[in-house]
Amino acid sequence: MDLDAALSRINPKVRALKPYHLTIDTVDVKLNQNENPFDWPAEIKEEVAAFVRTRHWNRYPDFIPETLKQALASYTGVDSDSIIVGNGSNEMLLVLLLSLTGPSRPLITCQPTFTVYRLLASGMGHDSDPVFLSDDLRFDTTAILEACAKNPDAVLLLCSPNNPTGSALSEPELRSILDTHTGFVIVDQAYVEFGAFNAIPLIADYPNLIVTRTFSKAFSAAGLRLGYMLGQEKIIAEINKIKLPYNINFFSDYTATVLLSHTDILQDRIEYLVKERNRMRQFFMSVPSVKTWDSAANFILIRTAEKDALMQAFRRDSILVRDVSSYPMLKDCMRISTGSADENDRLMQSMAKFYKGNS
Ligand code: PMP
Repeated sequence: MDLDAALSRINPKVRALKPYHLTIDTVDVKLNQNENPFDWPAEIKEEVAAFVRTRHWNRYPDFIPETLKQALASYTGVDSDSIIVGNGSNEMLLVLLLSLTGPSRPLITCQPTFTVYRLLASGMGHDSDPVFLSDDLRFDTTAILEACAKNPDAVLLLCSPNNPTGSALSEPELRSILDTHTGFVIVDQAYVEFGAFNAIPLIADYPNLIVTRTFSKAFSAAGLRLGYMLGQEKIIAEINKIKLPYNINFFSDYTATVLLSHTDILQDRIEYLVKERNRMRQFFMSVPSVKTWDSAANFILIRTAEKDALMQAFRRDSILVRDVSSYPMLKDCMRISTGSADENDRLMQSMAKFYKGNS
């Protein structure tokens, strides 16, 4: 078989996709991936290093990461049998789509949202049918419920707070969806710690609700690749059947357990980042050429007719932000992650300089 013949045998929906890729760029101020700007203290890393030095590398990790699951159970307030941990919340989303969607159970997502949903859906052969956010980029519950009514078995995947808009579902909005929709509802809460409504307490009332969370944002641990899902015990037991065995390595398993014993550090950082996000938002609101939206996450979406020139100005000042202008509804938009106060000052100074020069 020649290369073209082999390429032609790849799932056409996958071949039609543009690769999901990020510019690999070394800059002073990296505000393009919604990472936490703060690393963990050296003492905590030493504690993990001591474990890694003595742990046998030739042996598989624990079949069930029970200690980590117990720590997550007390952090989230559910029973440990209601949790599956995985290699990033991305892996949890893949497992959920594999176990919940099917030819008669398509996926409904809102747009604009996290790109990976569409990629996973394409891999599974679904034409993901989007429901658009409202004109002010909030969740349009009426439109969501209309789409669900047409497809009562569909799996509804909602991102709250939503990447890249920062908009979040309120408790009454989520309850109205769960009270009506008869298919599964997955709520991706990767950014929930930054101030959105936490959907986990609703799991007890709704067996069709699954929540996904991550260590990559508020927990300052994107490098660990650790995420988890939560749902009612019997539902989780079914989904767990298709999770790959040994999907998390012993390093991530141990480290995440250690990090969960330092939630004081986590809380301080969340408060700091929320204050910084609000400070940046106030600044963006004061710039006449910039439109910005309220955010419940650790990033802010802005729109400006000078998007390309402004991004170049940032780049000259060694600042990287995310161009999201190719997403539906987001013409001329960029997404700016919240960094440390110094990093945020640099971004705001760069923007102020740009508009002064342009006026
Ligand atoms: N969900 C959303 C909304 C995200 O923005 C991201 C990361 N950018 C993820 C999930 C994936 O997170 P993880 O690092 O846990 O795979």
